[in-house]
Amino acid sequence: MTRLMVDLERIRSNIAVLQQHIAPAEFMLVVKDDAYGHGVEAVVAAAQGVRWFGSFDVATGLRVRAVAGPEARIFTWSAVSEEELGAARAAGLDLGVGDFATLKRVSAGSGDVPVRVHLKIDTGLHRSGVRPEEWDDFVARAAAAEASGTIVVAGIWSHIAETSDTDDDRARAEFDRAVRVAVDAGLTPEVRHLAASAAAHARPEFRYDLVRFGAFAYGVRSAGGENVPGIEPAATLLAPVTDVGDDTVEIGIGALDGLPSTLSGRVSVRAVAGARALRVGLASSTVAGWDAAAIGDEVAIFGPGGDADCSATTVAEAIDTVGEEILVRLSPLIPRAYVG
Ligand SMILES: *Cc1c(COP(=O)(O)O)cnc(C)c1O
Repeated sequence: MTRLMVDLERIRSNIAVLQQHIAPAEFMLVVKDDAYGHGVEAVVAAAQGVRWFGSFDVATGLRVRAVAGPEARIFTWSAVSEEELGAARAAGLDLGVGDFATLKRVSAGSGDVPVRVHLKIDTGLHRSGVRPEEWDDFVARAAAAEASGTIVVAGIWSHIAETSDTDDDRARAEFDRAVRVAVDAGLTPEVRHLAASAAAHARPEFRYDLVRFGAFAYGVRSAGGENVPGIEPAATLLAPVTDVGDDTVEIGIGALDGLPSTLSGRVSVRAVAGARALRVGLASSTVAGWDAAAIGDEVAIFGPGGDADCSATTVAEAIDTVGEEILVRLSPLIPRAYVG
């Protein structure tokens, strides 16, 4: 059967390696996009000992809460509707807040249970966050809301491009200034967090109190990047042989399952017979030059181990994208099977 096999023990060991590497900074497991396609519930259940989760949206945050229990800290940072805000409040989610209007809405609660917020400074990515020239005013308003008891400023955060060390360093200087302004305004954020996998892994000064790890936790290395010592892909995409022709073999996965058709002729899959060229069709695909195949044999489109390196990132590099993209594009209808 076509399936994404997820090795939960591998995710646990990746997390342990990363936790040790960044200590004393704390580890956040980012589980947006259904845990990068691996499945939120199973991944969160496997991540025992992880205290912080990053969910992006409130709906995912609620799924994390249901599995991780009341003690877990769940950071969400998408824009929130009124309804989502109510749900987030009730579930005790930590909210990323990066604009005045949202700060006002979040601060408008009764104050019965203050909402934990993480103020976002725009350090140059221009995706969201408060611009440096407005930051002092923003922080003053947050401090006033905290004093009135409706919010608690639990964090200061930003996101960086991780494409050039120079840009990242500039962002870090802006971030440091933002933290200083917040502290001067009387705020006592529990955590400062700036970086995701790549920068935090490579550069200690980017770790601060907390690192938001997505890709590396799942063993997805950066496109164009080296393998990270101790980290291996947790997911293997398997498809069965569904038909055997003279020289080509049909396998049960295609573009409709989320496999990019541009992979045709650019990647090999791993078959028992060795690496074989893949041609992506709509509902099924073909593998060339595999003469002794039998129906029910399996190929791995990507996954760890074996002779051929075919991680999701390797597949992605063939079409100039990133490993995460290959994983999150996979249809949710492809069953996830768990081991470990
Ligand atoms: C996706 C995301 C992360 C995780 O990034 P990786 O490179 O996958 O580790 C961290 N922070 C934010 C804001 C994100 O959107």
